[in-house]
Amino acid sequence: MKTDYNIISDAVKGFLDPEEGLRIYNISLTASQMGPCLEIGSYCGKSAIYIGAACKENHAILFSIDHHRGSEEQQPGEGYFDPELFDHRIFKVNTFELFRKTLEMSGLEQTVVPMVCASEVAARMWKTPLSLVFIDGGHSYEAACTDYQCWARYVMSGGYLLIHDIFPDPEKGGQAPRHIYELALSSGLFEELPMTKTLGVLRRNLSPSPSPKRRGEICKA
Ligand code: MG
Repeated sequence: MKTDYNIISDAVKGFLDPEEGLRIYNISLTASQMGPCLEIGSYCGKSAIYIGAACKENHAILFSIDHHRGSEEQQPGEGYFDPELFDHRIFKVNTFELFRKTLEMSGLEQTVVPMVCASEVAARMWKTPLSLVFIDGGHSYEAACTDYQCWARYVMSGGYLLIHDIFPDPEKGGQAPRHIYELALSSGLFEELPMTKTLGVLRRNLSPSPSPKRRGEICKA
């Protein structure tokens, strides 16, 4: 990965560890040769730099979904609230302006396609197989399950499903991302690859899809 992307990424707000970012970049470099990538949870664009940089090298595309109003834990009074991201003109969290600035700074405006809406809205008429899906949206069971149910099915054979913020110890973090990671594994559709810190990495099997009953799309919190 070119050094200037690392410098830009360091300057962008976000919760992605550089080691996780580099792993995502390397996987995206392989994945984006097969088709478009998609992430849920753009926030200020830190992960979009890593995936987008890889996509750019392959002249591919990253769809980046976020309503840009902050997830549950980023609202005023909550643990991850950042006053710098509160837009007093509209009295709401607003991460879109910083996200656009990140794309501009990193030269990724022709590579990353922002989708400013809820994940389930973006999925409503979606038909395109994806080479990589990175789930890093809201951390409630409802949000994580929605993202999983809406998007995991579009990962193509040989493509990757990445899930951020997996904490085996409940003391260290919420369990919703781990729950969907285990759902994906139990579907029989994915092979487990080594994790990097809290980043779960699954690769969709090359064998034919199992029957719909085994697709692992039922999400019980
Ligand atoms: Mg995260």
